[in-house]
Amino acid sequence: MGTVQINLSQTQETLGYLRREIHARRTALRNDTTPAALEKELATWEKMIQELQTESILEKNTRMRLLYEVSQELNTSLDWEETIQTVIDAVIQLTGAERGMLVLKEDDELQTKIIRNATGEPFSEEDLNFSKSIVQRALAEKRPVLTSNAQIDPRFQGSESVFAFGLRSILCAPLIYRNTELGVIYVENRAQTGLFSPDDLAVLATFTNRAAVALANARTHQATNRALTRRVEELTLLQEMVRDLNGRLNFNRVMERSITWAIKATQAANGTLGLPSPEGIQWLSPSTQITPADTETAQKVLRRRQPDFSPERIILPLMRENRPLGVFYLVAGEEPFTAKELELVTRLADNAAIAVENARLYEALLQSNQAKSEFVSLVSHELRTPMTSIHGYSEMLQKGMAGELTAQQQQFVEAIHRNANRMRILVKDLLDISRIESGHLKIQPVATELSAALEAAYQTVEEMLTSKKQNLNVELDENLPALLADPDRLTQVLINLLSNAAKYTPTGGKITVQARFEPDKPSFVHCAVTDTGYGINQVDQRKLFTKFFRSENPAIRQVTGTGLGLAITKNLVELHGGEIWVQSAEDMGTTFFFTMPADCRR
Ligand code: ADP
Repeated sequence: MGTVQINLSQTQETLGYLRREIHARRTALRNDTTPAALEKELATWEKMIQELQTESILEKNTRMRLLYEVSQELNTSLDWEETIQTVIDAVIQLTGAERGMLVLKEDDELQTKIIRNATGEPFSEEDLNFSKSIVQRALAEKRPVLTSNAQIDPRFQGSESVFAFGLRSILCAPLIYRNTELGVIYVENRAQTGLFSPDDLAVLATFTNRAAVALANARTHQATNRALTRRVEELTLLQEMVRDLNGRLNFNRVMERSITWAIKATQAANGTLGLPSPEGIQWLSPSTQITPADTETAQKVLRRRQPDFSPERIILPLMRENRPLGVFYLVAGEEPFTAKELELVTRLADNAAIAVENARLYEALLQSNQAKSEFVSLVSHELRTPMTSIHGYSEMLQKGMAGELTAQQQQFVEAIHRNANRMRILVKDLLDISRIESGHLKIQPVATELSAALEAAYQTVEEMLTSKKQNLNVELDENLPALLADPDRLTQVLINLLSNAAKYTPTGGKITVQARFEPDKPSFVHCAVTDTGYGINQVDQRKLFTKFFRSENPAIRQVTGTGLGLAITKNLVELHGGEIWVQSAEDMGTTFFFTMPADCRR
């Protein structure tokens, strides 16, 4: 814009000069009127007219060029502020006005947007005096208004502002886009009269048409931008809330957090959450002032599943699949609530409801798990005593302690003994699992030699190994330190892994136990139990260590088992602070690795 400079007062000067000349010639002609003198005068006049024409063409060209350049710039910018500044600066330059402003209609009110003077500087608010009656006339008539001296213009005789501010040259053109008046461009010169010419009117009209389009575009762009920014902010907030709420599974905590988020999102002064209860509504935080009338409204909100909205307060139902879970009660802060806050908090409530419901389900699950664990523990205890006596008596019978048995009796007693043993293991495992889940299983770590625990475990699995003709290799590092472990539980871990290795490896297979100690990682001892058995495929490996998991592999299914051993083993290892993992492939054997803390005190 700064590159285009024209001197629009040229024509004015020429006109002044002409007027003075006409006056001088008229006086001269009265005294001396010879044809030669007349001819000379006429030639001078013609020359002057020619000059004036050239000048006005030049000026028109310059105006057109400037107009073109400004229009080009208008079309390239979508920045609202930049666009209106460009518009005003251009108009000031085009008309040679002292200053100009853009007055826009917003919510049916006239708002002064940008005020600039001829040097491109914005000027102060106090200095902002313009004639409202001229602006209104331009808007009403939908065409530019021009006055060369407002002080004596009969159209503005009643206008206080015109007199109060000493307004003289004023040019005001409406900005109309698609039949809607966006506002006006208003330029003025307070000191000079007759500054603007009808030519300026035409230029300004052409210009304002373009400016109106540019402004409308910038305005749409700004509105879209604003809406987009708001949406992004909203989404970010929702995302943060969802992350925050989903990370919690405590019902009360989720409730408290969700109301905190609702307060934050709506910039409410305070708020609380109400839960439906047989006595009515139970409010979560008593600090918010809630009247009995509010409680009644909240009940209505819950019944109707519709929010109750006022600029001072929002009561909103928290719905999940058409079931009301509670109500948000929000009190407006300094800013009253609008439809925007209602919309936002509704969306927020939808998301919060999911987290609230999840927390509720989780708590119900915990409670039912607790009940289940208690039941399992009770039943296992009750079963243990009869199982022990069945096991013991059948063993005595088997050994002939109650007299010689026939071959068939021997066969029956063996079956009783075998099955009683299976049930004993199941009951023991169930008891362990229920203790682990209820957090009642405690370990007592002491310095324990791995070899001792291994010896104890071997006693239990020896029979199985022998019957399956399986070889057990033990490879322990010589410098192996003692472990810091509960000896019985360590033995249990080894029994589980060794008996699995034996169970899931065909007759004649090989089982190896290894333990290594790495002095650069002195806190733990690494143990591994390897077999040459059926192996575990990738899909099954993902499900290992979960309760009741047993492979679908028929070779494995034909061996009896509870599917609890590995879940217990993993828990026992982790209770010691160790880790357990597996390496296996189908038909390629399996290795279970686990770590156990070394007794560093020695
Ligand atoms: P159970 O042996 O009583 O079935 P576990 O929890 O000890 O229960 O083991 C769960 C499942 O993991 C087994 O049923 C089997 O499918 C698989 N599994 C465990 N150890 C091995 C192993 N050494 N080789 C192959 N599969 C195994």
